[in-house]
Amino acid sequence: MADMRVLLSEEQIKERVKELGNEISRDFAGEELLVVGVLKGTFVFLADLIRHIDLPLQVDFIDLSSYGLTTESSGEVRIMKDLEQPIEGKNVLIVEDIVDTGYTLKYIKEIMLRRNPRSLRICTFLDKPDRRKVPIVSDYNGFTIPDHFVVGYGLDYAEQYRHLPQVCIVETVN
Ligand code: 5GP
Repeated sequence: MADMRVLLSEEQIKERVKELGNEISRDFAGEELLVVGVLKGTFVFLADLIRHIDLPLQVDFIDLSSYGLTTESSGEVRIMKDLEQPIEGKNVLIVEDIVDTGYTLKYIKEIMLRRNPRSLRICTFLDKPDRRKVPIVSDYNGFTIPDHFVVGYGLDYAEQYRHLPQVCIVETVN
């Protein structure tokens, strides 16, 4: 078991996710949206977020993997599972759990832009700007957090803790 400290409570998360959904609904009013979740860490956030988006929308998922099994991104990313549909001419909203070095989002943005969407925006649940290696800014972000390794609300440590309703900082691993 790991020692953990709550960083974001269930209530804080609920409130913020609702705000994000409302903001996205306003910005895309009158349009349709293709919400693209990046597996696996986004499945909880995405499920809550889309229920606050009042627009016709579709959902698709992409699964990426960075080389190496460390907690630090190596900068090399590859597609493990691609989208099931073309995105040309669509309003695409990429949903990512957390932006850290920025390598993953930079890569996703580049491959998506090559497919000629009508528009492309990024929604992240968490942002750790202190660790950024490449400049990337999300259009919508839930919370900006300090440089700690966090779990819960979809985020894992060795595939554990994704089901926690809060976001917790992992302090020590026993
Ligand atoms: P980046 O390419 O921006 O460095 O990394 C983004 C990915 O690293 C996220 O999608 C996530 O899978 C993982 N990651 C970065 N920071 C954390 C963290 O604090 N906790 C967890 N569980 N994953 C993280």
